[in-house]
Amino acid sequence: MTSVSANNDLRQNALVWFRQDLRVADHGPLYSACQFVKAQAENAGMPSERPAKVYGVFTSTPSQWVSHDIAPIQLDFIERHLNMLATSLAALGIEFKVLHLDRFEDVPSALRQLCQQLDIACVFAHAEPEVNEHQRDQKVGRMLAEQGIGFELFEGHTLLPPGTVLNQSGKMFRVFTPFSRAWRSQLMNRPAVPLAVPEPVGPRLDVTEPISLDCKKRSSQLWRAGEGEAKRLLEEFVHHNLAEYRAFRDIPSVDGTSCLSPYLAIGVLSPTQCLATAMARFPGALIDDSGEHAGAFTWVTELCWRDFYRHLLVAFPNLSKTRNFNELADGIRWRNNAEEFALWCQGKTGYPIVDAAMIQLNQTGWMHNRLRMIVASFLTKHLLIDWRWGERYFRQQLIDGDLAANNGGWQWSAGTGCDAQPYFRIFNPLSQSEKFDPEGKFIRKFLPQLASVSSRKLHTADIVGADLFASELDYPAPIVDHKAARLRALDALSAMKRAP
Ligand code: FAD
Repeated sequence: MTSVSANNDLRQNALVWFRQDLRVADHGPLYSACQFVKAQAENAGMPSERPAKVYGVFTSTPSQWVSHDIAPIQLDFIERHLNMLATSLAALGIEFKVLHLDRFEDVPSALRQLCQQLDIACVFAHAEPEVNEHQRDQKVGRMLAEQGIGFELFEGHTLLPPGTVLNQSGKMFRVFTPFSRAWRSQLMNRPAVPLAVPEPVGPRLDVTEPISLDCKKRSSQLWRAGEGEAKRLLEEFVHHNLAEYRAFRDIPSVDGTSCLSPYLAIGVLSPTQCLATAMARFPGALIDDSGEHAGAFTWVTELCWRDFYRHLLVAFPNLSKTRNFNELADGIRWRNNAEEFALWCQGKTGYPIVDAAMIQLNQTGWMHNRLRMIVASFLTKHLLIDWRWGERYFRQQLIDGDLAANNGGWQWSAGTGCDAQPYFRIFNPLSQSEKFDPEGKFIRKFLPQLASVSSRKLHTADIVGADLFASELDYPAPIVDHKAARLRALDALSAMKRAP
């Protein structure tokens, strides 16, 4: 927690600034704001005529969302959750306001003004690792301090705060495995205990006006909304699927993963809630990589990846500007063919596993992790298109868009990232498809025109793609030949060879 500034005796209210944390449970800033006003009431010793209040605020900055390519489906999901949050807060006696602002740069002064109007003594919020958000918060802190208003930032987006999992030289790890070892051992000594929903701080309020964000949105109704719903999904997943997670997490045709990423991305659910729920059922999830705990152990590793990428964003702020993590990658000559990129986006590459995955993304706003790796590898290696093009397209489509995870996932797949992924490891989309969708169930779900094609043929698209086309199945021939594309990629990516 970072504490800024002094208090001003005339002011007594608290403001909780909600950002990527649209929940009331396990919410450090909300919990502390409620404690803050209760402590004031207790200090006063007698019922006050004007008891201190807690307010909530969300700053809506559509122009920034457009410039950052935030997906319209994610904005719709956010809007639905803002309405639910307003209701949950009203039940706690907390009035929730949305500040509609033209520009991201207007946030600090608008907040200062709101604080003055509401007699706010202190603003409470979760820290955000992205460069722009971090700079904005520094400015907010300075502006509020000038007015004698406090600004307290809490960690909570990750299981361990950025900057606290370091190597022996006191620096951020550059590879995942040693990071994960250090991360697990720290968490062993720091049990995950989510904070409760605070007690009401005033009488229940009415919510009269629905919240509407003034931006382009796309329906997210395929996804159930709400904190209660997210918790129910988490419980169900841990109860029914977690034991088998290791066996099924790579099979896109089965519900082998949690599908909780949309809720984690906007903070309807916290990672602490996830870990605590997993540990309650599988107490060995942090240390036991075998037997009945193996599934939970593997899932916790995914939560660790999530932390890892956020920690990297703080340690290497250039990542927020989508720079190559590995500078050797600056020498890669991408082909960047716009027509091929459009075919990849539309799911028309002639490789069924790639196309079905892209259609899943376009239709649902979500894509299975194994498929994200396959399509990202295909774009960057088979088509030699700069990973930043794909990263941006994902941001424009994903309901779980998350700067750190998206950047990390793309750079990992392109081989330009932080891990020891050698540039010459190139996923073969055909063998990936045969291994992870052997019966073609996933492919046929999103490419129903291939329903009658045999499974064997689905995994040999480079040979049969032309056949499929010729037989008027409404499916394109492959846009590149796998073997030739692989050799071309090896040549172009050799720019990443380390000097001898
Ligand atoms: P589960 O397997 O149930 O995992 C639980 C949670 O752990 C996820 O909800 C997610 O929050 C986290 N997680 C899992 N895998 C990863 C990972 N590899 N990196 C970081 N966190 C992880 N994830 C996003 O949340 N937003 C993104 O924008 C995003 N973009 C990606 C782009 C690429 C190219 C790749 C390869 C991966 C990307 N991921 C992203 C990571 C991963 O694909 C998704 O988090 C996962 O598919 C979400 O499904 P789930 O909730 O069922 O995951």
